[in-house]
Amino acid sequence: MSLYRDTGAVVARGIIPGATRALLRAGSLLLDTLLPPDCPSCHGDVDRAGHFCPTCFRQLTFIADPCCARCGQPFVSASFGGARMICAPCEETPPPWHAGRAALVYDEWSRRLILGLKYGDRTELAPILAAHMGRIGRSMLDRADIVVPVPLHRRRLFGRRYNQAALLVWALARQARIAVGPDTLVRVRATAPLARLGRAARRDILRGVIAIRPRRRDAIANRRVVLVDDVMTTGATLGECTRVLLAAGAASVDVLVAARAPAPDEPRHSEKSAVSRERYAVAR
Ligand SMILES: [Zn+2]
Ligand SMILES: [Zn+2]
Repeated sequence: MSLYRDTGAVVARGIIPGATRALLRAGSLLLDTLLPPDCPSCHGDVDRAGHFCPTCFRQLTFIADPCCARCGQPFVSASFGGARMICAPCEETPPPWHAGRAALVYDEWSRRLILGLKYGDRTELAPILAAHMGRIGRSMLDRADIVVPVPLHRRRLFGRRYNQAALLVWALARQARIAVGPDTLVRVRATAPLARLGRAARRDILRGVIAIRPRRRDAIANRRVVLVDDVMTTGATLGECTRVLLAAGAASVDVLVAARAPAPDEPRHSEKSAVSRERYAVAR
């Protein structure tokens, strides 16, 4: 399914001839009969593979509009974001990326899925999460030239065997015809978790940690990039990746994540999240 283009980026074509598609559909129906699909969260019965059961679906908090255009923070109402739909922390310290969206609020329910994908070898969760990311990030994916994951340090990669952000990127690329740069960015050294540090300390620790692979520069120059990760917590790593991509000549960088956690220095908005859940359930 993948081809290398002269830019060095991998292109997911997503073009499957009709007969092959019919065979794949028949194969998937046969598999569903032999192995009935289960809920990705609780393993209970569901009608279709990749769908949550009604109970788990209700527990997950999908972030629908209105939310901050820069960081995806859900708003209780459109008036919270002002005319530009930007939250107060983003107004005060704008992130280096242009637009930012998250599919889910990072809470105890989405955490199970994210940790399963990250540490539990549950790679089948990547396309399920990516489907929701693709829906929430459709406009940024439509205007993007390439999708790039936040990199994992090679020592962590060795232990985990895969980069969960790269799995999300591959799944997004399969859904929307878009180029992927799975190894565009590289983490030069590993860092300890940043959540407990202040903003300045996070910036200091991350300086020089992310680099662009020299042979991937051409794939980034003048391209509109969507940067992907599993969770946005402080946004510091996403910010550093964005700065590196912009320094390498990217035309723009948008950020798309599976789930968004409120930063430690940011108030939690459980009430707002509940509103978003209601809105999404209605929209669905
Ligand atoms: Zn369930
Ligand atoms: Zn914001």
